Amino acid sequence: MVTSLDKVDVVTVGVGWTGGIIAAELAKQGIQVVGLERGQNRTTEDFQYIHDEYRYAMRYGLMQDASKETLSFRNNKDERALPIREWGSFLPGEGVGGAGVHWNGQTWRFLPYDLQIKTMTDEKYGEDKIGSDYTIQDWGITYEELEPYFYKFEETTGISGEENPLGAPRSNDYPTPPMKGTLILNRFKEAAKSLELHPIQSPSANLSENYENPDGQQINACQYCGFCERFGCEYGAKSTPNVTVVQAAKQTGNFELRTDANVVEILHEDGRATGVRYFDVKTGEEFIQPADVVVLTSYVFNNVRLLLLSELGMPYDPESNTGVIGKNYCYQIMAGATGFFEKEKFNTYMGAGALGASIDDFNGDNFDHSDLDFIHGGVISISQTGRRPIASNPVPKDTPAWGSKFKEKSLHYFNRSLSVGAQGASMPHKNNFVDLDPTYTDAHGNPLLRLTYDFTEQDRKLQEYLSARAAEIMEKMGADIVEKRTMAKHYDIVPYQSTHNTGGHYGR
Ligand SMILES: Cc1cc2nc3c(=O)[nH]c(=O)nc-3n(C[C@H](O)[C@H](O)[C@H](O)COP(=O)(O)OP(=O)(O)OC[C@H]3O[C@@H](n4cnc5c(N)ncnc54)[C@H](O)[C@@H]3O)c2cc1C
Ligand code: SF4
Repeated sequence: MVTSLDKVDVVTVGVGWTGGIIAAELAKQGIQVVGLERGQNRTTEDFQYIHDEYRYAMRYGLMQDASKETLSFRNNKDERALPIREWGSFLPGEGVGGAGVHWNGQTWRFLPYDLQIKTMTDEKYGEDKIGSDYTIQDWGITYEELEPYFYKFEETTGISGEENPLGAPRSNDYPTPPMKGTLILNRFKEAAKSLELHPIQSPSANLSENYENPDGQQINACQYCGFCERFGCEYGAKSTPNVTVVQAAKQTGNFELRTDANVVEILHEDGRATGVRYFDVKTGEEFIQPADVVVLTSYVFNNVRLLLLSELGMPYDPESNTGVIGKNYCYQIMAGATGFFEKEKFNTYMGAGALGASIDDFNGDNFDHSDLDFIHGGVISISQTGRRPIASNPVPKDTPAWGSKFKEKSLHYFNRSLSVGAQGASMPHKNNFVDLDPTYTDAHGNPLLRLTYDFTEQDRKLQEYLSARAAEIMEKMGADIVEKRTMAKHYDIVPYQSTHNTGGHYGR
């Protein structure tokens, strides 16, 4: 039996950063909002005294349970996709706060170029710079229009950072000063400066000092505990949705949070959403929640899947290049270089999720691409997140992958290796998309979302270029062995790369 509930003004599907922000801003205006979140509630107290690498970092204690909710994957449209049984390449979040609970907290702004990439690329380099298979387009909103909202986010979350000479223009300073420098970060900065680059302390949601945000929430100073990425913060020092915007929404009295609520359909009439259908995942009860507005805040994969399952919008067809739902799925490419030091040791086990130093010299269109056969770039950084003992075994390439030699080198280099990394922007390509899987279904009999994705030529060239720049910095840092990161022949769902899945429902 389906229970029909009283109508509300707005429903958000999912309560992570996007759901929390929208709920808080609307609730402050007196609008009644219900947040439906299929995971559980999470508070700072839940994380006290549990620096458990195995539970959180290896067994993904805070992430979506792939045995219940997953997607299928293939490299190209001629392959049969198979369900992802265990996360690897990316780690979708679950529960109140979503992936924002266990994020690192690096808080970059888009560059003006990102938002008007088609126009700016065409104007500077001509219309066929990367070819028509890459479906780049402008966002339809400029950086200038967005700038106040970037700052509003930074003010709400108390971001710690400093002026970046090559970053996007800012109308205000960061609300809190940058995080502490360390031997590792200082070494990177000195090396970058010697190459006439422009290093800065990375902007961070691990706060450098105690801070009260405009909504009255207290965020504490980071303790540099080193159990940040993939973990919740036991000190209330990482700006996450559940210590900021979700609290702000609740304190208005206009926000109701319903956990264990799995939305399976967007209801609509004449092309207009009228509410959602959801199940209580604990009792199995089915509900209809009518609403004037339904906001999809359930992350790329779930947003697209709900649109497709609900038959809203025109599905993307890569053959005819028509439709928009599922189009322009994008990811990131991981470039970089690792340095092995024989004579020096570093405290790599210390750190914080977003403790790092970065350069924007090779990001966006900050460098000339006239003689390069790719566009865009990426931030190059050194991150000191706190090296985790189970997951981290940095060894030079010629080391055996197991056995006594591997153990010896792994122990030797644990504190004698550093990595400079870059998250390169991948461009949308007509063959990279998401749609509904024709074979595999979930517990309700609904098709899984199917991801079709592989690296492109543009990705490979950018990866090679950024890795070479990272290696130059690492050499200047004084490493005895420098190894550039290479790229797999095809994208795979292992190992971990980044949880920056983007696109999926955009297009002309
Ligand atoms: C380890 C890690 C480190 C990261 N570090 C950074 C970083 O340093 N900087 C950065 O900018 N980004 C980082 N990210 C990415 C960032 O955390 C995410 O992009 C961001 O949190 C996504 O927010 P969201 O609200 O869009 O989605 P999510 O946080 O995924 O929230 C969506 C919510 O919707 C819920 N949901 C999904 N489907 C349904 C449904 N059908 N019904 C009801 N609820 C549903 C989910 O349970 C989830 O709680 C990191 C991610 C990971 C995993
Ligand atoms: S490093 Fe800082 S922000 Fe991150 S979990 Fe530890 S105390 Fe919290």
